[in-house]
Amino acid sequence: MKWDNATWSGFVSKIAAAMLLCCACLALVAGCSSASESSKAESAVANDDDVVFEVEDVSATTPLEEGRVVMTLCGSHDTYVRLGESYIEGGCLVRDRKDGSLTSSVHVTGEVDTSKVGDYTVTYSVLNSDNMLAECDRVVHVVDNLEWDTDGVPVLMYHYVYDPADPPDDLGTNHVSMGELEEQLAWLTSEGFYYPSWAELRAYVDGTHSLPAKSVILSFDDASYGFLDLGVPILEKYQVNATSFTECSRDDIDRVLNDYASPYVMFESHSYAMHHGGGGQGHGGIIYALSEDDLADDLQRACDILGSKAAFAYPFGDVSDASRAAIDRVGILCAVTTENRQVNVGDDYWALPRVRVFGGNSLESYQASVL
Ligand SMILES: [Zn+2]
Repeated sequence: MKWDNATWSGFVSKIAAAMLLCCACLALVAGCSSASESSKAESAVANDDDVVFEVEDVSATTPLEEGRVVMTLCGSHDTYVRLGESYIEGGCLVRDRKDGSLTSSVHVTGEVDTSKVGDYTVTYSVLNSDNMLAECDRVVHVVDNLEWDTDGVPVLMYHYVYDPADPPDDLGTNHVSMGELEEQLAWLTSEGFYYPSWAELRAYVDGTHSLPAKSVILSFDDASYGFLDLGVPILEKYQVNATSFTECSRDDIDRVLNDYASPYVMFESHSYAMHHGGGGQGHGGIIYALSEDDLADDLQRACDILGSKAAFAYPFGDVSDASRAAIDRVGILCAVTTENRQVNVGDDYWALPRVRVFGGNSLESYQASVL
């Protein structure tokens, strides 16, 4: 199948505009590059089995300023596709520390032939307002010899990370220590876990896409400074990809998105301003008291700030019929609750369960919850 710009646009709007939006690479780190000279994104020749993204020429006239642009590939930077299935574009989130989100301006080029075993490269390119070009790559492996999941994929729900030498006053089971997080990520890494994008998870839930047997998605709610200051460096050390669910009305949202932009952290919506009580049902969140219009306005506002619609975490896990309709209207790909179990094929992708990670529990109990 040959993909041109129009097909690409149609694809994106069909399975959710959000997927353009994720992905991760820092123009500073290995695997990403900047260009100071004119460059041209090439479009590949395709046969009927190929997926091709053709883009217009991109050129840069100004050297990329160090630290200016952070590109965040959604999902594992090495993407695995089962032979004969479709390549699901996970997307690439881009944060420019002066311009804000550039995600909607990302050009995607490359060719993935899922009818042939092999390694393929998908390249993401973006120009900022000062005509600086940032790029990063995703390597797509089309394989037929992997063990594929048959019994569910865990989306882990973390909250806070703390330093045992300086514990918070409200220390509880929603806090994991730096040591616990490090031990968990070291284990995931040693076991070769795969971190699917939200787009891949959506296709998995729809029953149209295989995921490796050892797949897991990590999510951290509330974007606390404990997570940002202590947790993100550990994610970067192990190159483990995670989603930070953030309420976007917070006063420091620009600081959070700029100062903590990372190739390994996807900032997604925890609503614009629905992270408080007042609904009188479920866990008491305000979500039950709001109309579909109000909910859609809130969700859209958060997505505009983040530049992404890949995922939404319900504050307190409260889901209403109106909120589901609002998510549909805004075009969010996946929404997660606090229901405690793994995600299975056929689940409701706008009310997906998560596996809660408890601070203070043993590594063995963590392993049992993930496997
Ligand atoms: Zn929360």
